[in-house]
Amino acid sequence: MFAEILTIGDELLTGHTVDSNSAFIGQRLTERGYWVRRKTTVGDDVGEIKAAVGEILARKPEVLVISGGLGPTHDDVTMPAVAEALGRKLVLCSPCLEDIKAFYERLYREGYIDDPSLNEGRRKMAYLPEGAEPLENTEGAAPGAYIEHEGVKIFVLPGMPREMKAMLERGVLPRLGERRFIQKKLLAEITDESKLAPVLSEAVERFKVRIHSSPKGFGKYIGVIIFAESEEEAEKAKEFMEAKGVRFEEP
Ligand code: ATP
Ligand code: MG
Repeated sequence: MFAEILTIGDELLTGHTVDSNSAFIGQRLTERGYWVRRKTTVGDDVGEIKAAVGEILARKPEVLVISGGLGPTHDDVTMPAVAEALGRKLVLCSPCLEDIKAFYERLYREGYIDDPSLNEGRRKMAYLPEGAEPLENTEGAAPGAYIEHEGVKIFVLPGMPREMKAMLERGVLPRLGERRFIQKKLLAEITDESKLAPVLSEAVERFKVRIHSSPKGFGKYIGVIIFAESEEEAEKAKEFMEAKGVRFEEP
């Protein structure tokens, strides 16, 4: 089960904003048992977004999560670009338009904005690729989209971290099904990661696990995470490595 992440925004490329969204999405997908094999970042540019989506779909991930560029301004072009990449039309989602209208009317009533009318930028957010299921935005105006395309589950989410997180929890994760997946975090008492490497490779070959190791400076320990579908499989991999002379401590 592999997944990819695409984050969109000029500010991510210039470094004005640190891309925390892809880290959050990566954590959540990993917890669900997905192997996040790549993440890509492109600017707010139709051509770049189209190209990136095309390349990702060619790799046939089961899941693609896209974030950023759904807002009302002219540089928010993600939905039309995704629609083009999939060869679908951009069509009006009427219930989305109603929600957007209600959203701005509420902001107006609460005194945050001085004009509740549906101008072009606000109306634009109600257009989704044909066949998409809208994803409710509980924290903002722009709806997201869920599209099943040639076996790939594509989710398009806003860029504002608060909106993205809420939509990921409510609209994305429930559509991925429950799948048990465990991450066993250990400390290997070994000072040189290169001595650990051959043992890790052998464990990965023998058991249904993935293993990440990260050195903690030049200290006594190396952090090890075993990813597996069951506690038993992770334990077997751990015991195998112990038999090869690796000493583990629980962190
Ligand atoms: P909105 O409807 O809120 O305008 P949007 O989808 O257009 O949503 P963006 O314009 O992409 O959102 O980004 C809105 C804000 O979220 C910006 O301040 C941006 O820096 C921040 N942001 C966007 N993408 C990311 C990201 N990958 N990681 C962290 N922050 C992000
Ligand atoms: Mg933007």
